[in-house]
Amino acid sequence: MSDIAYVNGAYIPIGEARVSILDRGFLFADGVYEVAAVIGGRLIDNESHLSRLERSLRELRIGSPIPVSRIAEIEAELIARNGLSEGLVYLQITRGAAAEREFGFPTEAAPTFVAFAQKKNIIASPAAETGVKALTVPDLRWARRDIKSTALLAQVLAKQAALEGGCQEAWMVDQDGFVTEGSSSTAFILTGANVLVTRLNSSAVLPGCTRKAVQLLAEREGLTVEERSFSLAEAYEAKEAFLTSASNLVLPVVSLDGRPIGSGAPGDTSRLLRRRYIEWATNTSRTD
Ligand code: PLP
Repeated sequence: MSDIAYVNGAYIPIGEARVSILDRGFLFADGVYEVAAVIGGRLIDNESHLSRLERSLRELRIGSPIPVSRIAEIEAELIARNGLSEGLVYLQITRGAAAEREFGFPTEAAPTFVAFAQKKNIIASPAAETGVKALTVPDLRWARRDIKSTALLAQVLAKQAALEGGCQEAWMVDQDGFVTEGSSSTAFILTGANVLVTRLNSSAVLPGCTRKAVQLLAEREGLTVEERSFSLAEAYEAKEAFLTSASNLVLPVVSLDGRPIGSGAPGDTSRLLRRRYIEWATNTSRTD
């Protein structure tokens, strides 16, 4: 964790950063968040993250405490103050702290805005070389997964199940046996016919920013991308699988529930798309 956080207008050493115990983010998970990668001191694909943030706020009727253009300035300031070259910027907006704990929206509360930076090796990731193992769990989340809400308990349990099972990610499966997404990533498979498949965006999944960029890059490579549900059986039979997220870019998934995917090693298409994403991120998606 880097040292300087942002809390409601002030840059503060992270150990001193505080919000109220009556903050609705703390009491009800009544808030939204975003995570953007930083490479070479610059935010990657940040416009996409900020437009998703605006949408999440709108869907929950939380007012943005500051205009979105100012948010990018705060993120840049955090990167500078923390001397961050590679890592993540996390930001969270909640409905704020009311005088009392009441379920209904308070009239008097001002939204709370916090942000901090975190160092992480994003490009030189050992997991990108070896691939990661995943296991599947039932998708226990609420029905508005398109909102990037801080209510992440089902994902916390899913990730913990993965870790306890010797895996790095959990793929969540809906009641009909179709994969929705990873606990903190979008799920892709490559079929035997070389078609990339990822779930159609809907209220069942978070619309991944990395997914969107990777889809475009895959199509540029001449690959067909089908946005549709895929079953667990289809995932087991896939030629390749990978996950996408701001913090991991594109990561090959080499086994699912203990069964090797394809050869059990990172596949050519997953590796190619990771390379293309890094090229794209470091050349074209700078938002400075
Ligand atoms: N799906 C879920 C549930 C996530 O939590 C995340 C990222 O945190 C993603 C997908 C990937 O989204 P993005 O590529 O915008 O990071």
